[in-house]
Amino acid sequence: MKGALLEMKELKAEKKPFYKKFKTENFNYIYDVNTNDILRVSKPVYDIIDYIPGYEFLDDLCFTQIEKILIPTYSTIEAKECLDILMRNKKERRHLSAKRPQITSGIHSVEQVYEMMQSGLNQLIMEVTERCNLRCKYCVYSGKSRYTRAHGINDITFDTAIKAVDYFLKRAGHSHKKEKIGIIFYGGEPLLNVGILKRIVTYITTHYKDKDVFYSVITNGILLGRKSTIDFLISNNFFVTVSIDGPSHIHDRYRVCLNNKPTLKRIINNLRFIRKYNPGYYSNFFSINALMAPPFDIQAVSDFFYKNDLFTLVRERLNIRFISKKYTSFFNEYNILTGPKEIEDENNRLFSHFKDALSTGKYNELTLEKELFSKRFYDIASRRIVSLPDDYSPHGKCIPGKRKLFVDAGGDFYMCEKVNANYSIGNVNEGFNHKRILEFFQECDRIFADCNGCWALRLCDKCFNKIRIGDSFSIDRKNEFCRNSKEQILMDLLHFCEIIEKNKDAFSVFV
Ligand code: SF4
Ligand code: SF4
Repeated sequence: MKGALLEMKELKAEKKPFYKKFKTENFNYIYDVNTNDILRVSKPVYDIIDYIPGYEFLDDLCFTQIEKILIPTYSTIEAKECLDILMRNKKERRHLSAKRPQITSGIHSVEQVYEMMQSGLNQLIMEVTERCNLRCKYCVYSGKSRYTRAHGINDITFDTAIKAVDYFLKRAGHSHKKEKIGIIFYGGEPLLNVGILKRIVTYITTHYKDKDVFYSVITNGILLGRKSTIDFLISNNFFVTVSIDGPSHIHDRYRVCLNNKPTLKRIINNLRFIRKYNPGYYSNFFSINALMAPPFDIQAVSDFFYKNDLFTLVRERLNIRFISKKYTSFFNEYNILTGPKEIEDENNRLFSHFKDALSTGKYNELTLEKELFSKRFYDIASRRIVSLPDDYSPHGKCIPGKRKLFVDAGGDFYMCEKVNANYSIGNVNEGFNHKRILEFFQECDRIFADCNGCWALRLCDKCFNKIRIGDSFSIDRKNEFCRNSKEQILMDLLHFCEIIEKNKDAFSVFV
């Protein structure tokens, strides 16, 4: 068959449809980039797709050639079906287009950046202190993570904090979509500097009566035992995210105080106190961040969160993930050399539960697997089947100074907390550095230019943080990211189709 197909004229890349083929055990699929659709196709279409032009270039000559090639290999009925499908596509102009978008941020001048930066923010993440009262062994600020600062000693000053707040609020809340405006207090451990949180909230309630601002704090939970702190959080409807990894033999291995003492008991006592003190607040405003690190006892972690009444309502907002396998010396330092492999094995094992449960309609019986994998499949299941625009922006969700703004303890601005003191885009005294932001867009246009030929374009969650070294874009990291990303997306598409083959309504649980 292949020999026969190769007799067809070699196509130039820009004439080929924009697609990715994959197969499950029972069916053949084509992911069509231009429509974002997944097509289940017959064997002849699957075989011939590599050799036919996009529908825009299909002409009578092509059809005759295709027919000639198909007929000796496939039955006349199969060949006719294949031609009908291609003909229909040509007529309806939906699938299998050869169109490739232009990758461009559309930003070409400082003036344009300036204009764009006047509105559109809705989240200020403020590093109120670099200090932390714990020394979690895998912490990104432990000095073990490449590309991230180590624990520091600086607190944000009130003057810096309100300059950041003023700058942010002048540019926030202009959207017609009535997006909520949030200020997220971040650290280190932000409650070490709770005094400044109180002063900032008082300042906002006094000076910005017309703005509907919500507050949030991300904490290790140790200082949640102070009644004055709790009263302050309750009276300002703070959303509180607490980091807990599981039962003591899991949590206390790595989440320890400066003197290496365990921390779980204090955190749990604090949560019990708050639940008793104000049950409504506790159940509606608390969420949990949990990290899983090897050696694993997944069952114990699952029981801890799913069988413990302290988490009955809060676990709806449980965010759990594995620690990062990369760019950390954690595994060497604690002599867990098999750690990355153990993460992969556990991840695969849990994913297999997830897939089985979705395939058999038992999604609601899952525990941690839901939190670990639903988002990825939600993104595929809820993707919009709409045409790819002519111009496609290269920067993913990273639009510096739009939507999210991170201000560090020294008053420098960054596009998000993850870039962590890299690629500053301004500061509280001078505001946005529009030239620097323009350079960012130009770099994105350059480094992501080849995305226009990449089938994963619409499903890829590229971002600056994933391809940077320090504050520079890195081609090597970008290439590594692309390899891993495409592999993961292809596997996800395959699993998605395999699940649907077994249970066509599988994804209705979260769409
Ligand atoms: S509480 Fe957070 S910032 Fe502090 S050491 Fe642990 S992970 Fe790091
Ligand atoms: S995988 Fe790489 S080339 Fe493909 S869209 Fe993502 S960043 Fe671009």
